[in-house]
Amino acid sequence: MSAAQASAWGNLGWPPAAEIRRVDTRDADLPAVAGTLLPYGNGRSYGDSCLNPGGTLLATRGLDRFIAFDADTGVLACEAGVLLAEILDLVVPRGWFLPVTPGTRYVTVAGAIANDVHGKNHHAGGAFGAHVRSFELLRSDGSRRRCSPAENADWFAATVGGLGLTGLVTQAELQLKRIAGNAIAVRNVRFSGLDEFFALNAEAEREHEYAVAWIDCLAKTPRGVLMGGDHADADLPAPRGGRNVPLTPPLSLINHASLAAFNAAYYGKPWPAAQTVHYRPYFYPLDAVGHWNRIYGPRGFYQYQSVVPPAAARAATGEMLAAIAGSGQGSFLAVLKNFGARSSSGLLSFPMAGTTLALDFPNHGAATLDLFARLDAIVRAAGGRLYPAKDARMPAAMFRAGYPRLAEFTSYVDPKFSSGFWRRVMENN
Ligand SMILES: Cc1cc2nc3c(=O)[nH]c(=O)nc-3n(C[C@H](O)[C@H](O)[C@H](O)COP(=O)(O)OP(=O)(O)OC[C@H]3O[C@@H](n4cnc5c(N)ncnc54)[C@H](O)[C@@H]3O)c2cc1C
Repeated sequence: MSAAQASAWGNLGWPPAAEIRRVDTRDADLPAVAGTLLPYGNGRSYGDSCLNPGGTLLATRGLDRFIAFDADTGVLACEAGVLLAEILDLVVPRGWFLPVTPGTRYVTVAGAIANDVHGKNHHAGGAFGAHVRSFELLRSDGSRRRCSPAENADWFAATVGGLGLTGLVTQAELQLKRIAGNAIAVRNVRFSGLDEFFALNAEAEREHEYAVAWIDCLAKTPRGVLMGGDHADADLPAPRGGRNVPLTPPLSLINHASLAAFNAAYYGKPWPAAQTVHYRPYFYPLDAVGHWNRIYGPRGFYQYQSVVPPAAARAATGEMLAAIAGSGQGSFLAVLKNFGARSSSGLLSFPMAGTTLALDFPNHGAATLDLFARLDAIVRAAGGRLYPAKDARMPAAMFRAGYPRLAEFTSYVDPKFSSGFWRRVMENN
C-alpha cells in the first residue's frame, strides 16, 4: 500500500502520510520512526481520524489470523486486522453472529474497537465495546497490556473509542451471539412526519432487536421508512457478488435533482410490510456496490453524524432536517435511529442515549461548511455531540463540548501516537 492509497472513505484529499509500515505479526515491536505513529485499519472512517498526514501509518490488515473460536460458547479470539466480513464468513454457518455491527462489514476488529462502533441494535445491545472480552495493547515504550473490563480496566475504557491514540491493539477476544439461521425477518413501515417516526420507533424498539429508519431529507415534511429486524430461523443463499464503481468520475454524480428523484422513488417503491432476507442486504446494503464513495467525484464528500439527548431529540432533529431541506443539500443515505440508555464502555465513545442522524453531503466547499455550522449550533444547544469516525471538519470547541471525559482521556494517549483529527481538534482552539 502506498502512502497515497491509505485514504479515508470521504476522499476529501488529505495530505498523505510520510510513510506506511506494515504490521504483519502480533509479536513484532513497533517500528522506530522519527515522527508520530497511527494505526490504520481498513480506511472506512470518513475523515482524518484514521489518517496521519506527514507521519507514519501502521497498516494492520496483515494482522489477519484467527487465534481461537469456541463454537459452544461463541468466544472468538483473532488478530486486530481481521475484517468483520471474515468473522461472519467463519461463524454464521456455525450459528453465531456479531453482537454489534456497523453498516459496512469491511471494517477491522481493532477499527471497530477504536471507534466503539454502533449498529442497528444499540437500544438492545449497546455498542461494540460492550462485547469485547479483552484485547492486547502495545505501547511505544514496548509495554504490552492485556485489557478487559476487569484487568487494566482504565486502559480498556481509554482504548475503546480511543481513536487509535492509546497504542496498537494487536489482538482481541469477542463474545459473539447465537443465531438460528443467516436470515433476518424485516418489518417495513412508511412514516410521514417526525411525530410518527418517534411513535413507530418506540414500538419498533420494544418489538425488534434491530430498528433503523431511512429518511428523505429533502422532503418538506420528513418522511421515510422504518425497518425493524430480528434474526430468523431460516437459511437463505448469499446474494451474488455486487457491482463496482471502477473509476472516480470527473464530477460528482450527486446533485439536487438526482437526489430528489432518488428519494421520491425510494420512498414510493413497493415496500413489503414483512420480508425475510439474507443478513447482508439488511445490515450492509451499500457493500453491494464496491467503491460507491467514488460517485461523489474528485472533491469527495462529508458525513455528518450527530446524536442529541432524548429530551431535545424531537425538536433538534426537526430543526436539523429543516435546515438541511432548506439548504437543498443532502444525501440519499440519511439514517435516523435511537441509541438506548446502556452507557458506552469508552471514555470517548460516541453513542449516548438519544437520537442519531447521519447523512452524506457532496463537498460543495463553503456552502456545505456553512450548513454544518448551522447544524453544529443546533446539536450543541441540544447537548449533543458529533461522531469523530465520520468527521472531517468539526471545530475544536465542538469536540470539547461533546466529550466531557476528554481531559481524562488525554492522559492515556501514547506520546508517540497522533492523527490528523487529533491535531485538528486539540491544537486549533
Ligand atoms: C458505508 C459505511 C457505513 C458505516 N456505518 C457505521 C455504523 O453504522 N456505525 C458506526 O459506528 N460506524 C459506521 N461506519 C464507520 C466505521 O465503522 C468506522 O469508521 C470503523 O472504525 C472503521 O474501521 P476500519 O477498520 O476501516 O478502521 P480505520 O477507519 O482505518 O481506523 C479507524 C480507527 O481505528 C484505529 N485503529 C485501526 N487499527 C487499530 C489497531 N490495530 N489498534 C488501535 N487502533 C486501531 C485507527 O487509528 C482509527 O482511529 C461506517 C463506515 C462506512 C464506510
